[in-house]
Amino acid sequence: MSLMRLAYASEATFEAKPVEKGVEPHVARILMTSRKNNARDQLVGGLYYGNDRFFQYLEGDEDAVRRTFDRILKDERHKNVVTLIEEPLTSRTFSNWSMKYVPLSRDVRNFLDEQGLESFEPSSFTSDQCEKMIELIRNSSQDQNPVNRDDNQSVGDAPQVLSSGMKMGLIVAGLVLVGALVIGGTML
Ligand code: FAD
Repeated sequence: MSLMRLAYASEATFEAKPVEKGVEPHVARILMTSRKNNARDQLVGGLYYGNDRFFQYLEGDEDAVRRTFDRILKDERHKNVVTLIEEPLTSRTFSNWSMKYVPLSRDVRNFLDEQGLESFEPSSFTSDQCEKMIELIRNSSQDQNPVNRDDNQSVGDAPQVLSSGMKMGLIVAGLVLVGALVIGGTML
């Protein structure tokens, strides 16, 4: 069995919708299918979506990578697919991930800043930038739930949703306040 690796860039054709559970809904569907199929085909890799662009890295058995890429090429949810890397691989470089999803766009923003790039335009990446992006995906830690922070908010913006811990804290604080007002009222 020969191994290969492949990276490409493309442009989303869909209009990004508000994020649901931390990920854009079209991308969530793509991730669900990818994780099911890639686990079956023992493909590993990662996907980054930002600025209406995709960057995807895949590695695994050559036939499986090519079959998958053939399906991806026909997908109407993106266009202008540019192959950035397509070459044999001696050993796998990702472990136990069917499709990693870069959770922190801050990492990508740092990478773009380091490279002096203003926006995420992966189709213009040099091979060195591709390798750095792959390294970034490889090193990003996450669980299998897609968590994307690049949800049309710029890095550094305040989060739009409260964490469940913060919500609980606010509810408790509210109850204490109401209790104090009630007790205070009865004492007057
Ligand atoms: P199906 O059972 O045919 O479809 C699975 C789900 O995807 C269904 O809900 C279906 O409605 C939906 N779907 C399929 N095609 C479209 C479409 N053109 N428009 C809207 N919805 C559609 N597939 C992988 O297996 N591995 C990958 O790593 C992978 N990466 C992708 C990256 C990108 C950027 C994109 C756009 C697609 C990717 N896909 C990937 C999806 C791939 O293009 C095929 O849709 C998928 O492989 C079909 O698999 P299936 O026959 O098992 O799914």
